[in-house]
Amino acid sequence: MAAYTCDECGMSVGVMTCGTCDVELVHDTIVKGDGSSVHVCACPECAGKIKSPMCCGQDMECELN
Ligand SMILES: [Zn+2]
Ligand SMILES: [Zn+2]
Repeated sequence: MAAYTCDECGMSVGVMTCGTCDVELVHDTIVKGDGSSVHVCACPECAGKIKSPMCCGQDMECELN
């Protein structure tokens, strides 16, 4: 399962679920037109995406266990 942690302060966010499908969101990365990448959480069922959580002004990193 995936959890997000902040490199700065160590705060972590547990697994998030899709409110529509009630399944765990999976980590995904979107590469934007300018070449930068954005961490997102995607629902494997409905293909919905939300931006990954932020802490201390930066994207939290996802650790896949
Ligand atoms: Zn933090
Ligand atoms: Zn969904």
